[in-house]
Formats: sequence, structure tokens, C-alpha cells
Amino acid sequence: MEGLLCPACHVTVRPEDYFCYNCGQNLRPKPLSTSFSSQLVVYLKSLLLPPWGVILGMRYLRQPDRRSKLVGWAAIILTVVILVVVIKLTMNMITLVNDQVGQQLQNYSL
Ligand SMILES: [Zn+2]
Repeated sequence: MEGLLCPACHVTVRPEDYFCYNCGQNLRPKPLSTSFSSQLVVYLKSLLLPPWGVILGMRYLRQPDRRSKLVGWAAIILTVVILVVVIKLTMNMITLVNDQVGQQLQNYSL
């Protein structure tokens, strides 16, 4: 178990402490929730608002605990997957439209 130092009074504090027991210094902002509903919100935002998923994911990755980091990675991976799918669908659509336009042009020239 690693020891952390309070930035204000340099006393050793436990990693899970939010406040220094010696001087009351706030050691870190309150952690983001990793409850099921919070995760659901993060994943839904990643699905529906792709850039937002990366921002949320980065925020979770900055948390010290493993569970938050997992949520962060999941949100970022989900965002990347969604972006790839959207880009692929868009490309397919463009190809489809191109083909149809090409066919119609051929029909006109016949
Ligand atoms: Zn302190």
C-alpha cells in the first residue's frame, strides 16, 4: 500500500482519505460515482453524444481507483466503436448513393 503525503502539511495520509486528518486539507475532489446508474448515464452519453463520451471517460480515468478507470476505458472504447460504426455507415451510404446516381446516369445515356 502506497503512502500519500498531504500537500499542505506533508503528513502521511491514507490513499482513500478525502481530507488530511492533521490539517483538514482537501486531498482530492470527490470521486465520480461508479454506481450502476452512473455507469449507465456515462455509456448512454457515449452512445448518443460521441465526443462527450471521451471527455467523461478521461474524467473517470483520472480517478485513482480501478473501477473508475474501467468505466473510463469502457466509455472511450464505446465512443470509438460508435464513431467507427457511424463512419462506416456514412461511407456505405455515400457508396450506395454514388452507385444509384451512376446507374441513373447510365439509364439516361441509354
Ligand atoms: Zn495536512
